[in-house]
This record gives sequence, structure tokens and C-alpha cells, in this order.
Amino acid sequence: MRLIILGAPGSGKGTTAVVLKEKYGLAHISTGDIFRSNIKAGTPLGLEAKSYIDKGQLVPDSITIGMVEGRLAESDCAKGYILDGFPRTIAQAEALDEMLSKKNEKIDAVLSIIVDDDIIKDRVCSRRVCEKCGASFNVKYKPTKVEGVCDLCGGSVVQRADDTPETVEARLVTYYENTKPLIDFYDAKGLIIEGNNNVDSDTCIKSIEDGLAKLGI
Ligand code: AMP
Repeated sequence: MRLIILGAPGSGKGTTAVVLKEKYGLAHISTGDIFRSNIKAGTPLGLEAKSYIDKGQLVPDSITIGMVEGRLAESDCAKGYILDGFPRTIAQAEALDEMLSKKNEKIDAVLSIIVDDDIIKDRVCSRRVCEKCGASFNVKYKPTKVEGVCDLCGGSVVQRADDTPETVEARLVTYYENTKPLIDFYDAKGLIIEGNNNVDSDTCIKSIEDGLAKLGI
């Protein structure tokens, strides 16, 4: 099974993707995580990506598309995958279609996570992530048992550099301009399954699982 998860920054794409990855045995490909690990390792890709990420802008398609193509060629993707944070532009979506059609493959469903902007701004600014395993916490809604320490792996739990009020505003503008049009793009192909994450992630995940079951997936 090949899935895409779409949603604004902080809509809960990552949390939902981790649950679905476990349930369906998929590889979880988060372009944001790939960029962040390159930034941490100080690679040339990381250095270039950082200048865009810090401003809440998209890393250019010329860098991102090739990076994803390489990742999809790795062996763990053969069992199926969930793409989290890619595609984010129509050009990326078209490039993905092309990559897949070369291999006679297709996307089975596109999961669209709905959350109101004011809830997003509140959740993103209080979000914290584990530097080691990537687990997501929230100082207001899902605090770690010990402050600053990951409940799952004991790693350091920190605020992402781009989870500030100013950068979140910029990321939302980027989302509405570049990524929201993808919902129509995939709706026209009959692939969209919606999950509403305004209240809690369990309800959102349940409606996505029901949508996948209806498609016989
Ligand atoms: P995320 O972790 O998905 O919120 O991504 C963090 C940041 O990485 C985004 O705000 C972008 O700057 C960059 N990024 C992640 N995925 C993409 C993509 N598919 N295209 C361009 N930039 C991306």
C-alpha cells in the first residue's frame, strides 16, 4: 500500500503516519525528518535546506524531488510506504506520478488531515520533539513524564527551530499557496480520505482507517 498524508504544519500528519505505519507495516518517509537529520549531520543538503526551513519556505523542488526518488528506491519501500510532507507542490505531485508510472506503481489513497488554523498555531508553538527518535510531545496537551526527556527512548526533547509563532505564520501561508491545491489535484483522481483532527487524534485516525477499509485496503 502506498499512501500520502496531507495537512497543514502541525495538523498531526506525523502522529497519524506513525500509527498507520505500525498498523499496515509501511515505511514512513517524512521529508521534514530527512532534512532535519541532514541539518544535524551538517551535510551540504542540510546546509542548503536550513536556509529555507528557517524562513518557513519550501526547499526547492530541484533538491526535494531527487531526494525522495532516492529514498523510494531503498529496499524498505518495497513493502509499501506512507509519504509524510511530500508532495507539497503540484510540480512534486506530478514528478511523483512520473516516478511511480515508470515502475508501474500508483498511490492507493491520499489522507487529508483537517485542523483549524487557530488550533494549529496553539499546538505547534507548544509542540516538542525528541532529537533522537523523533517522537512528538506537547507541553500543554501531551507532556513528557520527565521534563525534556523522551518517554520512549530517553533522548532530549526540544522545540523545533521552525515551531515559533512567526515561522508558523509563514509556514501556513506557504501551505495555503503551494500545498492546499494538492487536495483538489488528488480529489480529481478520487483518492482523498479525510480525517478531522480538531478534537483528538484517535477520532481522526479512526475515520482514516474506516476510509481505507471502505476502499478495501
Ligand atoms: P515538516 O517536518 O513536514 O513540517 O517540514 C519542515 C520543513 O521542511 C518545511 O517547512 C519545509 O521548509 C521543508 N520541507 C519538508 N518537506 C518538504 C517538501 N516536500 N518540499 C519542500 N520543502 C519541504
